[in-house]
Amino acid sequence: IYSSEWPEVPIRSTSIFTRLFASQAPGDVGGFPGSLTAFIEAASGASITRAQLKNLALSFGYGLRDHPATHASAKRGDTIMIYSPNSIAWPVVLHGSVAAGLRCTLANNAYNSRELAYQYTDSVAKLVMTAEEGIPTVKAMFVELGLSKAEADKRIIVLHNDLRWAGGPAVPASPDAAGLVAMEDLLSRGTLEKEEQFEGAAANETVYLCYSSGTTGKRKPKTTHQNMTTVVDITGNTFPSLRPGEQPMIGILPMYHIYSLATILHFSLAVACPVVVQTRFDPVQFCANIAKYKIVFGFIVPPILVVLARHPAVDSYDLSSLEYMLSAAAPLGSDLVKKRLLSKRPAGAKCFISQGYGLTETSPSAHMLGFADSDRKIGSIGTLMATLKARLVHDDDGAVEAADGQPGELWIHGKTVMKGYLNNITATKNAITPDGWFKTGDVAIRDSEGFYYIVDRRKELIKYKGFQVPPAELEALLLTHPEIADAAVIGVDSIEQATELPRAYVVPVRPDQVKTTAAKAAFGASIAKWVESRVAKHKFLRGGVAVIDVVPKSAAGKILRGELRELAKAEAAR
Ligand code: ATP
Ligand code: MG
Repeated sequence: IYSSEWPEVPIRSTSIFTRLFASQAPGDVGGFPGSLTAFIEAASGASITRAQLKNLALSFGYGLRDHPATHASAKRGDTIMIYSPNSIAWPVVLHGSVAAGLRCTLANNAYNSRELAYQYTDSVAKLVMTAEEGIPTVKAMFVELGLSKAEADKRIIVLHNDLRWAGGPAVPASPDAAGLVAMEDLLSRGTLEKEEQFEGAAANETVYLCYSSGTTGKRKPKTTHQNMTTVVDITGNTFPSLRPGEQPMIGILPMYHIYSLATILHFSLAVACPVVVQTRFDPVQFCANIAKYKIVFGFIVPPILVVLARHPAVDSYDLSSLEYMLSAAAPLGSDLVKKRLLSKRPAGAKCFISQGYGLTETSPSAHMLGFADSDRKIGSIGTLMATLKARLVHDDDGAVEAADGQPGELWIHGKTVMKGYLNNITATKNAITPDGWFKTGDVAIRDSEGFYYIVDRRKELIKYKGFQVPPAELEALLLTHPEIADAAVIGVDSIEQATELPRAYVVPVRPDQVKTTAAKAAFGASIAKWVESRVAKHKFLRGGVAVIDVVPKSAAGKILRGELRELAKAEAAR
């Protein structure tokens, strides 16, 4: 059993709201001056301070709580759903709902009405908070669920990505919002006196229901207050000492995803990093915001780095303020970092590019590569974070440990491990052993210094005639090819050879040069050959190399292999 070597952190028994917002002295919010900026809306520059955020959250929480005579109200312990692109309204309604003792389930803002209906019903949500642009989808969802218009309208709260709810200029509401309760309506009903009002929230009470990415099947981990307080604290001690209020972070990752939730909506407040909220990823906007707001921190995902590695905007903006970029949620190829990104560091500038690892089930952070080691250990997810324990095992019941330096399935133990999956005792039992070990399903190696490397997902390893082929390794290699912009590898069944064969899908850098069937075939063959001179024989792309326009990915940057498998089946059937 491996233990963490990071300094211990306290295990707290308060709610996450108390952890972030309790005043330790007059004028102070969560241990920092209330006057410090908390969130900034990138496009307009509008901002709110920590003290404003706390007061808005307490008012919003009050407005939501159990007013039977009014529209849109919820009882202690009810679940509310947030369905919105990134917006400055998010921290207010999220922390406000939590202050009121509610659970939040966060929906992918790209969901259609059917997908939304599934999550709404499955999580037993009572209300939906939606941005104006989401109103038609939410209304369609309620129609699908058989609710009358009057009943549906009572369950919708409209969010705004401007400060009309905090003394900003009035903006006319959209016609879609007619007759619906808006967040500003809830802010004027009163205020929760102080955070003690939710003192009833026990540390092991569920506060968030973030649906996992659905890469291998949808599950919904129950994340508790203590999971969140712990993850905030263990993230804090992997960071260098910070200057409160002075080192802005870019809020680019979708806030409904637990990685963004934990970092942009929680960790930022715990260390007083102002967050510059960007609504959608666009490489030029991203670079422009870094330059304009002198961003210091970026919690990001590999696809953002893949784009930045090639995008001309990187050279036309001053990005020298960037000091720390942390990539997580999907594998980050070490060659991409070495060959494409670090060379772009302006002379004298120190932008560390580091990596973290985790899962929705571990709230999410489990490993992080400390910035001091980020140049030395490129490709590693770093060491086990504070207070956690890990094992690398060979079999389902954990009886056989992997030998030193050998791959094994990573198991995690600690206070960040979820309570279990919602409404799924079987899945919970399969994932967590009776003594609390969570089986990640990921295969990892630990080196002699305690740094971990993710080999691949256990279920995604391609089996070529008994040999294991990790698709992530081939993808990382393909990304170093000068003519490949993006790549994905899956295993395809070969009936003749009775095995799986690794097959690559690649996006050319110059698609106009690889247009005809013949050009695609020639390009594919040249790539397969190129790979053969660089990997062991069993990893050759025997399933072929196909050219595609874009690699299908989730918002958090995971390759949607299921879609590629469907594509491969369709191709084979042709
Ligand atoms: P689902 O569980 O719904 O099938 P998912 O596992 O992709 O989907 P998440 O909880 O969002 O959903 O993602 C966790 C997974 O992401 C991990 O199990 C791991 O495979 C992958 N992952 C996270 N960080 C890294 C990393 N730094 N390198 C490689 N893989 C990573
Ligand atoms: Mg998973």
